[in-house]
Amino acid sequence: SCISGFATQRATDMPIALIAHGGAGNWRPGSEEDAIEAMRVAVEAGREVLRRGGAALDAVCATVVALEDNPIFNAGTGAVLNFDGFCELDACVMESREARVGAVAALRRVKNPVLVARKVLEETDHVMLAGEGAQRFARSMGFGDHDPVTRDRHADWKDKKGRLDEVLGKHSLKMRRFLKEHPEYAGGTVGAAAVDRQGLLAAATSTGGVTMKLVGRVGDTPIAGAGNYASAHAAASATGTGEFVMRSLATRAISEKVAAGATLEAAMGEVLDELGRDYDADVGIIAV
Ligand code: ASP
Repeated sequence: SCISGFATQRATDMPIALIAHGGAGNWRPGSEEDAIEAMRVAVEAGREVLRRGGAALDAVCATVVALEDNPIFNAGTGAVLNFDGFCELDACVMESREARVGAVAALRRVKNPVLVARKVLEETDHVMLAGEGAQRFARSMGFGDHDPVTRDRHADWKDKKGRLDEVLGKHSLKMRRFLKEHPEYAGGTVGAAAVDRQGLLAAATSTGGVTMKLVGRVGDTPIAGAGNYASAHAAASATGTGEFVMRSLATRAISEKVAAGATLEAAMGEVLDELGRDYDADVGIIAV
């Protein structure tokens, strides 16, 4: 169940557009209506930025922050827990201008990982910071301590941990088989892609990853060209089992196909078909 919001408006001459998703996966706290309403609010926050003539990068960040702050979604507060019972958060922001990109991986105690990723883009010469180093960087940028674990997610984790044998099966430790048999484990990542009045494109994606992931596992979300990508041709955000998205560099592939003359729709269709054919993958992608 992938929830998406969509908003376009012709502001001056340049059309603005923003699309967002609330992730793949079956389980989330709250009702479907709650999730749709939360998505509407988040899309509106981003659209407002674009409408005022703001940058696509600001718009996708505004949308993703709203989704990270809502515990319904698997990002920021309310992200899924890893095998050891704590959150490790991944996020990425990218702008088409000069392929500017910033990312964080396996970040533990921060409220808005997407904003830390943006600081990596703005304040460092690096593309990605991970683990302890990412956390230290977040603190020095003024992001305070925040435990993203919610009661609902912890209860879900405890329940699954308590019947691990039943849930995993004896020989199904491989992620592929595990997720196929238990699609409820796939997260509910959030993401947004937008184009602004200046014609710049941007994408932002944030996630807690997949439930019961091994400590230290990093998925597709913070990898530019895998779970998140923006170029002059397309900006895209992916959700679903990250390992397939990493292997296929799906969001970059969409951009390349558009650069070669394909429509966005055709490019996305081809990439999703390839993901299905090559990996039988449970992946969803949004793009502008
Ligand atoms: N793509 C995310 C990851 O593998 C999970 C998700 O989108 O549900 O970390």
